[in-house]
Amino acid sequence: MLNVHVFSFNGFQENTYVLFDETNTCVIIDPGCYSVFEQNELANFIDKKNLTPVKLLNTHCHIDHILGNNFVAKKYNLGLEIHRADLPTLLATTEYGHLYGFTVDPSPYPSNFIDETSKITFGNSELEVRFTPGHAPGHVVFINHLHKFVINGDVLFFNSIGRTDLPGGDFDTLINSISTQLFTLPDDFTVYTGHGPNTTIGNEKKFNPFVKQ
Ligand SMILES: [Zn+2]
Ligand SMILES: [Zn+2]
Repeated sequence: MLNVHVFSFNGFQENTYVLFDETNTCVIIDPGCYSVFEQNELANFIDKKNLTPVKLLNTHCHIDHILGNNFVAKKYNLGLEIHRADLPTLLATTEYGHLYGFTVDPSPYPSNFIDETSKITFGNSELEVRFTPGHAPGHVVFINHLHKFVINGDVLFFNSIGRTDLPGGDFDTLINSISTQLFTLPDDFTVYTGHGPNTTIGNEKKFNPFVKQ
């Protein structure tokens, strides 16, 4: 059994995901914990469930998704894994932090780059990586076929899509990523989004006003 736990963190109400299975190992995706209160909320959950974090992953490196990278990397002694094409996004976060009024705890430099040929394994579980640029140049999503879900970051939202006006963003590229990488999944797959409620592939195929089938 692979469990998905979501936290909503920081001023952007960013969804941070902890995935854990019966072996009690877990991966942490997009830790957005910013305040000490939020850091404790994440750490207390991991303690209470007796989990061992084995991977730190980012779907992409916008500031709201990386605010807790350094905390998680240090506390659990983990390297950061991202797609290489999002390295410029990561390196720009300190500057964007100033713009948004955040003091950014700088993220560690990635220890490993992942792409669509990577298989993420932990405990008894496996995640497929798909490359989904458009919202960010090096955006990836993580798919678990057994439990029929995708950790989709800021690609799709409930009846909406990610913004494309940030550096490296491109509308047509995003629509292409959705059509070729997400809408090729079965309708009953759950889509865990980077902000707001989750949705399903079927719902978005039917109702998403941005992506016409
Ligand atoms: Zn984003
Ligand atoms: Zn976001």
